Amino acid sequence: MILDSILMVDPLEGEFTGSLEIEDGKISRISKRERSWSFIVIPGFFDPHVHGSFGADTMDLSKKSLEKMEEFFYAQGVTSFLPTTVSCSLEDMLKALDVVEEYMNGRDVTSVLGVHLEGPYISPEKVGAQNPEYVREPSEKEINAISENDVLRLITMAPEIEGFSEYSKTLMNKGVVISMGHSNAKFEHVKKAYDMGVKRITHFPNALRPLHHREIGITGAGLYFDDIVLELICDGVHLSPQMVKLVYKTKGADRIILITDAISAAGLKDGVYELGGLRVFVENGVARLSNGSLAGSTLTFINAVRNFRKFTGASLKELTRVSSYNAISNLSIENLGRIKEGYIADLVVLDRDLNLIATVKRGEVVYGKIS
Ligand code: FE
Repeated sequence: MILDSILMVDPLEGEFTGSLEIEDGKISRISKRERSWSFIVIPGFFDPHVHGSFGADTMDLSKKSLEKMEEFFYAQGVTSFLPTTVSCSLEDMLKALDVVEEYMNGRDVTSVLGVHLEGPYISPEKVGAQNPEYVREPSEKEINAISENDVLRLITMAPEIEGFSEYSKTLMNKGVVISMGHSNAKFEHVKKAYDMGVKRITHFPNALRPLHHREIGITGAGLYFDDIVLELICDGVHLSPQMVKLVYKTKGADRIILITDAISAAGLKDGVYELGGLRVFVENGVARLSNGSLAGSTLTFINAVRNFRKFTGASLKELTRVSSYNAISNLSIENLGRIKEGYIADLVVLDRDLNLIATVKRGEVVYGKIS
């Protein structure tokens, strides 16, 4: 396949025009030439925090629900994602890990890159829309059981909980990335975790101790430490546009990872849905529990990207950072997320207004049309 007369945007090299050739699922050749262009080609999006969509729910995973999610995400430009659980029993975590492992082993091409466990080792004071019944401290038995499975890539834990240092070390030694979240941590707790190498925060600053000028807490720490990366839900509801701009100005596009945090209601009508055993009411696309807490989103990834551009005025190069490259580097995934020869041909084709024209997965058009 050859894509000609395009504007390519690479997260490191920036914008260049010319043509791109794909062979055996990889970018085989890039010819840079000064010429006019009609489409923008950037790396496929990566959503490392998503609980479901289009009726599929990560707490009820099966081959069918994963296929449904892949399909729906292709239509949003997402070529990689981590199905993300919420606080639940050990048995349910292991089930999710097993289903994902079997799914990944069973196919040559998949956008599922592993599992993100969001909880249950979080603060009971910052449960957000998680079911408090399942929130608990980690134990050796549980940590050993979940880390036995290679598909566990990312886990959200609160750094102030009992056992955090010990167990996050165990997990990091097995290649799992720790993200601090659902946390009431003071600055000192975050500093301790940071010194151990924990440098990521889940859906900043939702479900976190807010910034106070005498105790800047985990929210302040996320801004204070340059190299902590922050997940952002860019739907204009979880954070105001001004907050997104403020984070962008403080941290820069290199330290932001866009996520959708979408739930099964994404792509469906308003109504009553479920998240981790709790009822979720979706009104005008905004998902809340009966107590008013935001309960994930119905955001699509392409809209997150467009919102980020609108709220911050970010360049195209910066958009490739926040929509895939930062998440991929954070998880140390290789050969993905760049417009470069030898890299996997997971691509998004956009028009000048950032409307999605097509999605390419391993060199195959999986959504839209390339003329
Ligand atoms: Fe959450």
